[in-house]
Amino acid sequence: MTKTFFSIVGFFISTLFLHAQQITGFKKSQQQIALEKQFDSFVSSKRVGENIKLLSSVPHHVGSAGANKIVSEVVRLFKESGWDTKVETYQVLFPTPLVRQLEMSGATNYKALLKEPALKEDATSNQQDQLPTYNCWSADGDVTAELVFVNYGLPEDYDVLAKHGIDVKGKIVIAKYGRSWRGIKPKVAQEHGAIGCLIYSDPSDDGYAAGDVYPKGAFKNEFGVQRGSIMDMVVYPGDPTTPFKGSIGNVDRVAHESAENLLKIPVLPISYKDAAPLLKDLEGPVAPKNWYGGLPFTYHIGPSKSKVHLKLSFDWKLKPAQNVIATIKGSEFPDQWVIRGNHHDAWVNGANDPISGLAAELEEAIAIGQLVKNGWKPKRTLVYCAWDAEEPGLMGSTEWVEDHEQELRQKAVAYINSDGNGRGFLGAQGSHAFIPFITEISKSVIDPQTNVSVFERARASNAVNASSSKAKLEALKQNEFRLEPMGSGSDYSSFIQHIGIPSLNIGFGGEDDGGEYHSIYDSYDHYARFKDPQFAYGIALAQTTGRAALRLAEAEVLPFDFKSLHQTVKGYTSQLMELMDQQREKIKAENELLNSNAWNLAADPTEHLLAPKAKQEVPYIDFSALLNALSELEQVTKSIEKKSEKLSAKELDEWNQKVYRAEQQLLTSAGLPRRPWYRHTLYAPGFYTGYGVKTIPGVREAIEQHNYKEANEQIQIVADSIKKLSNYLNN
Ligand SMILES: [Zn+2]
Repeated sequence: MTKTFFSIVGFFISTLFLHAQQITGFKKSQQQIALEKQFDSFVSSKRVGENIKLLSSVPHHVGSAGANKIVSEVVRLFKESGWDTKVETYQVLFPTPLVRQLEMSGATNYKALLKEPALKEDATSNQQDQLPTYNCWSADGDVTAELVFVNYGLPEDYDVLAKHGIDVKGKIVIAKYGRSWRGIKPKVAQEHGAIGCLIYSDPSDDGYAAGDVYPKGAFKNEFGVQRGSIMDMVVYPGDPTTPFKGSIGNVDRVAHESAENLLKIPVLPISYKDAAPLLKDLEGPVAPKNWYGGLPFTYHIGPSKSKVHLKLSFDWKLKPAQNVIATIKGSEFPDQWVIRGNHHDAWVNGANDPISGLAAELEEAIAIGQLVKNGWKPKRTLVYCAWDAEEPGLMGSTEWVEDHEQELRQKAVAYINSDGNGRGFLGAQGSHAFIPFITEISKSVIDPQTNVSVFERARASNAVNASSSKAKLEALKQNEFRLEPMGSGSDYSSFIQHIGIPSLNIGFGGEDDGGEYHSIYDSYDHYARFKDPQFAYGIALAQTTGRAALRLAEAEVLPFDFKSLHQTVKGYTSQLMELMDQQREKIKAENELLNSNAWNLAADPTEHLLAPKAKQEVPYIDFSALLNALSELEQVTKSIEKKSEKLSAKELDEWNQKVYRAEQQLLTSAGLPRRPWYRHTLYAPGFYTGYGVKTIPGVREAIEQHNYKEANEQIQIVADSIKKLSNYLNN
């Protein structure tokens, strides 16, 4: 689509909105709408494309020469737009490979390539200074053993191994990428006694079974490897040697060998070219059908005929993590900060992850700079951040939050995050008091391909893709944006889960599939062909996150809606009660199958399968403390709605300060069981899912792990935090 056409349609639609739209928190919505219209006139998709090209022009992992170049370009772009810009540096541990060796010998003899070749179709793929393919935070190790295939390497896959009587103790396992955060696979392998772990990208997931491979298409070719961190971030993220503290000066550090969130076994990611000969050598039972991938032979579980030798060693050095922090001081409330962030470090060139999101953030910064040049000033302070060291474990943002915790608890109104971005549908996760806020924003941003609002487009996609006919019709009627809860996997984690700052994570995608993630092929050439060829979704993102920042900076009444929060938590509580009932039914039925001998009679006698053990019956537990706390919160949310309508200017300021700190009431000072760094009682990444969220995690994970005593204790803790919020809002 041409730019002129886009602007005419955009103008027509925004004129329509000018008459219809009211923005929550503003007495004079027209003024804010006019400001946003001006903002929209200053953003340019052409410049987004140019900045993606510039900032992905060299490999720029933590501590590299390329990182210094990217940091100086980002600083320049902020400064040229009039932002007060500084670099805050932390010294973080960042291991890089010294030795990587993988071979198989015996019946099969194979030496793994461990290398992605340069392609003439990809201009940056032949550069020096690329980090080799590896999993950051693998332990040093030199192991030789038989190989066992463990499917995706999740806990339930080990139940299947147990059924076949296969033990991974003393073995090296090979798992497929996908279905969970990558760090879960070696963690579960280590828990089961494995001495090494390989993770490979199966062609059925993001290779030739998904589409044409690069450079013909977007998907993974036989050499492509997904790098990535295997730090156990669900225990705590950030520098593993400085939990709870900023990595500055001569901070006390724990030795990395004893850090609680690092594994003890060597782990290496490989391509399907390198995985195929290893998998082909496996003997033992044929793998279940749903374990099959896309390689052209029968998948077996193992162990292998031949032995695998895996040797890895790393340079465990401190490197500078350089966070760029740019501010425009608020004219009325300088001590109230609206924070926006995206990381700048990449595994290699990172055109999509993270530069596409960073280019959108910079586009906002440029447009806001232009507004300021024209005489406008934000009421609250805008703090725009470009984080370093996100890829190895959210280190730049986490160290900054840990370092500034007390100040942030006072001043941070909200944190707005983005990361990789591409063509498709708006997706957002965040604090549920923001549901009406993000709904209004999504209805005011126009989708560049269809010219309806990004809200309408996301709703259409939800409806078409819903699982049942009933759910499809319900989704179609939905008038609120579907704001998902936050797990982990990007820089919002420490803001929301460690210190309770209300947060949003926003991005577009779904029509930008590919296999380039964390490989040398995540390049400008790949991005411009397959991710967002017009860079129009860079603009859609800048408009969405830019509106969020501008509205929070300008609102007379900050747009927190605790009714939505209450509704959401009530929904989670019903889910937990259902989960208990389902689990009770399931275990009852499974035990009955064993007791009645049906399990044995249904099994193929020639396979000699081992029956699972009978499980403990599921007791009834008491949710009344939580239900009572929720009905109290419901009453409070009704009464405060009336109160905020008739406040004086001074009272309004006090009220605003109160509501933006309200989410902190939902923290528990002791933290979650076995992971005290995570303090939010409503949201955490799952202990066995990684990025995937667990809502009301203390209770939910206790139920899932059949620890009903702990579930009871956690119900009380969540109830107390909700009561704390009610009392806080009521005073
Ligand atoms: Zn990223």
